[in-house]
Amino acid sequence: MSCIFCKIINGGIPSHKIYEDEDTIAFLDAYPAGAGHTLILPKAHYADVMNTPDAIFNKTMSTAKKLAPVITKAMDADGFNLFLNNGRAAGQVVDHVHLHILPRNTQDNLKIGLPQKPYGQGEAEKIKQSIINCLRENHLDREKIKEQIKQNAPQGKISCAKAFELAQLYGISHARMGESLNQLKIKIVKCQLGCF
Ligand code: AMP
Ligand code: ZN
Repeated sequence: MSCIFCKIINGGIPSHKIYEDEDTIAFLDAYPAGAGHTLILPKAHYADVMNTPDAIFNKTMSTAKKLAPVITKAMDADGFNLFLNNGRAAGQVVDHVHLHILPRNTQDNLKIGLPQKPYGQGEAEKIKQSIINCLRENHLDREKIKEQIKQNAPQGKISCAKAFELAQLYGISHARMGESLNQLKIKIVKCQLGCF
């Protein structure tokens, strides 16, 4: 295995390890953007987010959440950035999925902000729609949601709260908060019947 992080995990390359449990490990970044810059990763090799099983990704995130306030306190910092680079275009250099924790101070003058600007007229609506369309077209998502609906609405019986939650999840009633819960329920049941 040529992966540098796997070599660190196996002890083949030295690191400044600060934490490890059964599934995850954390060590200091060798080229820190600030004191205490830490990498958190699964011990098993997964190249990126999409290749990482949910359970493992959740454990890694949970380790990061546990460590972040501790590292922040130890560094006498005021806050932290928690981030992940996925794919070359996003700056991923090491192909073993990992989270970064970077302690921050109010006065540290680090510039990691992105050049953000507002959407143009109507642009956000179009973008929102193309993402929702992709979600709908994504067979796997559709199957997953159908499964959830089946579990939550046997024989089409579903609580108002659950109907609303599922509808939002699938963008069925996007932003139409005025829509009656009954209408939502009908749509959910249609989903259940495969009519969407
Ligand atoms: P990324 O750009 O998200 O893939 O980040 C990879 C990170 O790994 C960078 O911040 C590097 O500084 C760090 N890094 C590379 N080699 C090592 C190493 N041997 N030990 C610790 N951190 C490393
Ligand atoms: Zn690896």
